[in-house]
Amino acid sequence: MEYSCVFCKIVSGEIPCHKIWESEDFVVIEDANQKVNGHLLVVSKKHYNDFLDLPSELYRNFLESVSVAVEKLGIKDFNLVLNNGKFAGQVVPHFHLHILPRRVDDGFKFGV
Ligand code: AMP
Repeated sequence: MEYSCVFCKIVSGEIPCHKIWESEDFVVIEDANQKVNGHLLVVSKKHYNDFLDLPSELYRNFLESVSVAVEKLGIKDFNLVLNNGKFAGQVVPHFHLHILPRRVDDGFKFGV
């Protein structure tokens, strides 16, 4: 637990969140700033700074958590976004993946 980390505080219950689901190692929450309707985050329960920090033993549970989150959204079109490192736009240095459900004419522009 990193005491100044917003996602550690969410995992510990110190900061409220809208929790969609949780597994042994991950929690799925609604992003506080919805880039599109239904925008979710898959967040590791333990503090890892980024993907490079995430132990490979967690990969399976991570992908299972993503899969359940997508199932719960009930949508077939989505973007998975992982901002790794500050130059890639990572603002919260605690491992997380964005799930962005996509719908026709949702107005979201993805800058690649
Ligand atoms: P990133 O730029 O990949 O680090 O994204 C961090 C995400 O965390 C942003 O989309 C924020 O809107 C989201 N976020 C920050 N604080 C909270 C919070 N307290 N609850 C839910 N989402 C949050």
